[in-house]
Amino acid sequence: MDKEQVAAAILHKARAIGFSAAGFAPVSRCREETERLLNMIREHRHGEMVYMQQGLAARTDPRNLLPEAKTVLSAALPYTFPLERDEDAAKISRYAMVPDYHRELRARLGMLLDFIGNMYPGQVTGKVCVDSLPVFEKSWAEKARLGMTGKNTMLIVPGTGSFVFLGEIVLDIELPASAGLKENPCNGCDACLRSCPTGAILESGKLDARKCISYLTVELKRDFTPKESAMTGPWLFGCDICQEVCPHNTRQCSPSTARGLSPRKELTCITPEEILALTRSRFRILFAGTPIWRTGLKRLKRNARAVIENLKEC
Ligand code: SF4
Ligand code: SF4
Repeated sequence: MDKEQVAAAILHKARAIGFSAAGFAPVSRCREETERLLNMIREHRHGEMVYMQQGLAARTDPRNLLPEAKTVLSAALPYTFPLERDEDAAKISRYAMVPDYHRELRARLGMLLDFIGNMYPGQVTGKVCVDSLPVFEKSWAEKARLGMTGKNTMLIVPGTGSFVFLGEIVLDIELPASAGLKENPCNGCDACLRSCPTGAILESGKLDARKCISYLTVELKRDFTPKESAMTGPWLFGCDICQEVCPHNTRQCSPSTARGLSPRKELTCITPEEILALTRSRFRILFAGTPIWRTGLKRLKRNARAVIENLKEC
């Protein structure tokens, strides 16, 4: 098989495993992305996410993760399930309702790496990257032509939308760069800018994390100030507003068929009052394996108190 055929076989396998899009990009230094991140840090828009300042060298160049790296394979795993919450349920971002997406994503990327390894017995080394390793995910997805980043800063995959988990395999073999149109997914739309309740999207593609409900409810470690508490509105964990209003998500997308990527039923009906009453053991039963587990019970209760106060004022 020549390289084009190998690439086509890998992409076919990626689809079979459940990825809605995958592609290849030659390894290069991420100069522009690094500059954008440094600007965000200089302007303090990253809030208190100190980890963003760490591992910058590794993030800037995948060869710092794998010295012989030649290609980055980027892949998008959709979680486009229909969601019906009970009326008084706490609002949890969709990605956090899926049990352990890291494990699901890593397992599928591992299967893909095994498939590649079988085509190049003993000749290929690959590094699977899922959140835990520092990589400019959206940027590699753009370079591998999976889609383009919208004004809401999310990667939009044509035909799938932005409810996708991104993962990468850094490979030490050369594969042909994926081609495709680099279309602006937004054109005249500004629905996300208009709909963000806190004005966190300052301008197209420019986010101030300090105003973003996702940052406040997921990343911020300390207690809320009164202003921050009010900003979180009805959201217990994360916020999907700027994605829910996006026409790429509201138009009919095929629901995710990937096993293990459905929302946990209990999380569609739990109320903020029930969160306040949770014991440690019940917290473990409900949230172990979800991103909420890493945030911890103390901060989840902080968020629940804010939601209860905010809903009283509605
Ligand atoms: S996640 Fe919510 S708060 Fe953050 S930018 Fe989007 S709409 Fe605004
Ligand atoms: S809501 Fe509109 S402007 Fe925002 S990302 Fe989607 S298409 Fe782009």
